[in-house]
Amino acid sequence: MLGLQLGHYTLHAILDGTFALDGGAMFGVVPKTLWQKALPADAENRVSLALRTLLIVDERPGGRRILVDVGIGDLWSEKNRVIYKIARNGGLTARLAELGLCANDITDVVITHLHFDHVGGATARAADGNVRLTFPRATHHVQRRNWSWAHHPSERDCRSYLPETFSALEGSGKLHLVEGETELLPGVFLLPSEGHTVGAQLVRVVGSDASGTQTALVFCGDLIPTRAHLRAAWHMAYDLYPLTLLEEKRLLLAQALEERSILFFPHDPNIAACRARDVQGEAVLDEVVAL
Ligand SMILES: [Zn+2]
Repeated sequence: MLGLQLGHYTLHAILDGTFALDGGAMFGVVPKTLWQKALPADAENRVSLALRTLLIVDERPGGRRILVDVGIGDLWSEKNRVIYKIARNGGLTARLAELGLCANDITDVVITHLHFDHVGGATARAADGNVRLTFPRATHHVQRRNWSWAHHPSERDCRSYLPETFSALEGSGKLHLVEGETELLPGVFLLPSEGHTVGAQLVRVVGSDASGTQTALVFCGDLIPTRAHLRAAWHMAYDLYPLTLLEEKRLLLAQALEERSILFFPHDPNIAACRARDVQGEAVLDEVVAL
């Protein structure tokens, strides 16, 4: 496992698995003739997507171990496993075990937003049939606005929520409702984002890389879910506030291009992260960053 060093932190890209969503829904107004060159569709028009999480390990003694998003989890009916083509091969906890970590080692879980493919792994069904927290010692950080919205979504987005995946957090003592921009740890920032859904948050980690250069990595969440979504107008039909998303993406990419920051994609099927460069006003992949 590679890992990327930023200051005191080691960052790892970890896959919970893969799933598939309708290609048209993933690319909104973009014609299929264009998007299928980036992500080919299957016979049912679905595109394969990663369920990628970010592990941040504070290497100082007693340092925290933070997961950003927790994948789609295992609370799925056979019917939905087929519809969403869910493939996990043991999922997130199995991948953590390969790094020598167990569920109790995770001190913090940052949920970018409560859509089922980002929070699903926060809970699991125990042997007694009850749903419990997968990471029982972790404090779970969710923006308060997203928490409220997820309990009363609109007809347009209610199918993106599976309340069973997050309701166990209520009253657990392990839920931290975040109010806007927050520095979770020195150099680890939670940044509100409103375009994809109400009260989402991105994560920005800043520190010196192996060469001593100050570097930022941004977990882009569903603001830029894959490399193909670097283009300004390529965004999901799921987005609740497309024009807000456009503006947020423009600001994020302008800063990323100027700083040479690393963009981390939760759903890209091929790469975890990259740096971008400007080609005629559009951000395009410049170099893949492995972690
Ligand atoms: Zn989402």
